[in-house]
Amino acid sequence: MNTAELLQYDREHIWHPYTSTIDPLPVYPVKRAEGVYIELEDGRRLIDGMSSWWCEVHGYNHPVLNAALEKQMKEMSHVMFGGFTHRPAVELAERLLSIAPGGLDKIFFCDSGSVSVEVAMKMALQYWYAAERTEKRHFLTITKGYHGDTWNAMSVCDPVTGMHGIFHGTLPIQYFIHRPECRFGAPCREEDIRELKDCLEEHHAGIAAVILEPIVQGAGGMWFYSADYLKQVRELCDRYEVLLICDEIATGFGRTGKLWAVEYAGISPDIMCIGKAITGGYMSFAATMATERVATRICSRDPFVFMHGPTFMGNPLACAVANASVGLIQEYDLEKTVGAIERQLKQELQPAALFPNVADVRVLGAIGVIEMKEPVNMAVLQAKFVEEGIWVRPFGKLVYIMPPFIIRPEELSRLTQGLLKVIAQ
Ligand code: PLP
Repeated sequence: MNTAELLQYDREHIWHPYTSTIDPLPVYPVKRAEGVYIELEDGRRLIDGMSSWWCEVHGYNHPVLNAALEKQMKEMSHVMFGGFTHRPAVELAERLLSIAPGGLDKIFFCDSGSVSVEVAMKMALQYWYAAERTEKRHFLTITKGYHGDTWNAMSVCDPVTGMHGIFHGTLPIQYFIHRPECRFGAPCREEDIRELKDCLEEHHAGIAAVILEPIVQGAGGMWFYSADYLKQVRELCDRYEVLLICDEIATGFGRTGKLWAVEYAGISPDIMCIGKAITGGYMSFAATMATERVATRICSRDPFVFMHGPTFMGNPLACAVANASVGLIQEYDLEKTVGAIERQLKQELQPAALFPNVADVRVLGAIGVIEMKEPVNMAVLQAKFVEEGIWVRPFGKLVYIMPPFIIRPEELSRLTQGLLKVIAQ
């Protein structure tokens, strides 16, 4: 198959994320990837500004991750987790729980971020079932959130930009309050938290948990909000006997400048979801962590077990590469590595704030966001980015980058300069 045939077959038969089969968006054929570079079939090399949607933090084709996979493959690629355990799973659990926010003590390995959200929500429901408070079966969340595309995860995504309209009447009913407008770095005033307080006051008897992305709302709006707000969310959850689920799938493993975004607020959730960078982008894998209190309660009433057990749970290849990836994260001086990217992003993206078509520029950790005044044409913009030798995938009004942590200053400059050049046009 030559490249033209490959593209034609793809266009005629393969679904890509959120695309039409009748009029699909263009796709670019990738031959290989190394470090921060993605090489297309025609030899063009693009600097990756997306870390393949938050995952590829160590860059592509990393020798340490490759070696971990090769070694594990020769031992065993998979074995069922029902009735068996193995070193890669136990070593990974020990590593993750030793660096997890305080109190998180039990871990459930699963297949993807969305599944880890499903697992978290099931844990919350089973917790209240075991407490004989089955009326607590709804979730409260903030607008402009994103938690994945499976059924329950979808029910807590933003009701407008998510898919609630299409699936109306079939999704579980949840409580929504507006996202906090208090920005990261600003205090959370009484009026910023009032809606949450009022909703909990009125409905806490029917609410199992508050679920949100801590500090950074990702795919729902790329918004950074006040750590003080999150701190108050924790306090209100305790006051109204509601569990707190933090979805650290995008924010975890250093992306915001701290290992976990919850550290900015100095809080710990009752249940926490992690994924994406966990395997350094090598394969789909995720986990849900819970406190001793949550786990013990779940398992103390008939059926006395947590009711979930996917086929590929604890897959040894995924655990081995995750162990290596998290090990690398632990070796980085995050404040220094991500802090340097943050400083450079702030300096180099700031000029865009003066462009007439730009509404806002914000940077936190290794995340740089340019919010445009009008929605952009993704296909047109993407072609221009490719011409500039960079890979950026905007959506709606948001043009944003979150490069691999290993990006060098001169590569990051090429990325930001290419970005500014395109959006200035
Ligand atoms: N939660 C958050 C915060 C995410 O950003 C994502 C993916 O973008 C998910 C959950 C879903 O993860 P996955 O795509 O691995 O199912």
